[in-house]
Amino acid sequence: FFGNYVAPADLLKGKIILVTGAGDGIGKTAAKTFAAHGASIILLGRTTAKLEMVYDEIESSGGPQPAIFPMDLNGARIEDFDNLAEAVEREFGRLDGLLHNASLLGQRTPIANYHFSTWQQVMQVNVNAAFGLTKTLLPLLEKSEAGSVIFTSSSVGLKGRAYWGAYSVSKFATEGLMQVLADELEGVSNIRVNSLNPGATRTAMRASAYPAENPQSVVPAERIMPTYLYLMGDDSRGQNGKHFSAQKR
Ligand code: NDP
Repeated sequence: FFGNYVAPADLLKGKIILVTGAGDGIGKTAAKTFAAHGASIILLGRTTAKLEMVYDEIESSGGPQPAIFPMDLNGARIEDFDNLAEAVEREFGRLDGLLHNASLLGQRTPIANYHFSTWQQVMQVNVNAAFGLTKTLLPLLEKSEAGSVIFTSSSVGLKGRAYWGAYSVSKFATEGLMQVLADELEGVSNIRVNSLNPGATRTAMRASAYPAENPQSVVPAERIMPTYLYLMGDDSRGQNGKHFSAQKR
């Protein structure tokens, strides 16, 4: 449990980190937090205006100049991932960190009623796009002295729960992708690969999954950042193939 980890101010100095879904929620807070600890952030998301706001906030707080890469992961194709990798290579020459954070919640409904098209979208964004991005960016991560890939999990990715449909299944697949890749890289690469369950966090996704809940009763994203920092920074070198929880011991 690293929920009480205290990161040195320069933990991520000089690191190049890509965050997906960086325009809102946990991804936005992670991008700003990584930048505040010295990292240059590549902000990837589907709503450019939101990414621009995060860009401005990082700049005005004195963080290293970020980069924006708008991409809708639902419609993204392998060419889009190739273009991204080329841009990162041109601009930065390597990648030190990759936070797979963007996800769709989809429907909260029984499997019997689940829309096929929603199922496909959720699997596309949460699983297929994460695979495509990871595969395409691996050569740039290999150029890092110690690359860190973090997949965002959920408690419904370890134990299925009624009415969570494709979201739950996508998080099981995320754990699987993490484990397969971590096992492949163990001992032969400087890249470590882990999954992280943020736990209940005050965001738009949480509010739409639990509409009756008072958002003030849920922790803000800032509170779960210690584990994100731990896994992105060099203190977690050697951790590979593991599932972490930001809130549960
Ligand atoms: P939000 O819905 O608040 O934010 C998700 C972000 O992902 C948004 O910036 C969104 O963009 C982006 N995104 C969604 N779809 C796409 C797409 N097709 N292409 C590009 N970007 C996309 O979610 P959270 O911050 O709550 O969740 C972050 C992660 O944490 C997710 O993986 C989620 O499953 C996980 N999680 C969250 C929990 C919680 O309690 N909040 C609990 C357990 C896990 P836009 O802003 O443009 O919509």
